[in-house]
Amino acid sequence: MPMPIRREVRHYYGKEWRKTIRPAILRRSEVDHDRFGLGVVERVSRCECTGQCSAHEGRCVEIDRTLARTFNGAGGLKRRGRSTDPIEVIITIAHLDQDPANMDYANLMAACQQCHNRIDAPYRHHHAWRTKRRRKREAQTAAGQLDLFPG
Ligand SMILES: [Zn+2]
Ligand SMILES: [Zn+2]
Repeated sequence: MPMPIRREVRHYYGKEWRKTIRPAILRRSEVDHDRFGLGVVERVSRCECTGQCSAHEGRCVEIDRTLARTFNGAGGLKRRGRSTDPIEVIITIAHLDQDPANMDYANLMAACQQCHNRIDAPYRHHHAWRTKRRRKREAQTAAGQLDLFPG
C-alpha cells in the first residue's frame, strides 16, 4: 500500500515504526466495542485524543473502521477484509509536537482524522503539501474512495 509520507521524513517510518511503534500505539488505544449490541465484544482502536485538538472535552468517541468486522450469523465475527464499503474513520498516529523524529510514546497519539487534522492545523502553513494532500483526500472521499495514510 502506498504511504504518502514526505520524502524528507520517510526514513523515520522504517521497520521499527511499522513493526513495533505503530502497532504498540494502536494496541494502547484499543477498547472493547460491541458493534452490533449482541454481546460480541471486539477490540478496536479508539481515538486517544482527550482534548489536545481543542474541539472537545473527554476522550474522542471515534473508533477505527478499517479492521471492522461483519457479523457472520452462526459463524460469529468475520473480518471484513477487502470491503468496498466507505470507511469514515481511520485511526492514524499523530505526533503531538509535530516532530517526526520524536517517537517517544508520550508524543504519539492514536487519532481519528478530525482530531489529527485539528492537531496538525496550526502547523499546516509550514506544510502546503498537507493542504494539497487533504484536498486530494477530500476529493477522493467525496468520490467514495479511500486514501489510507499511516502518519
Ligand atoms: Zn478523535
Ligand atoms: Zn480531539
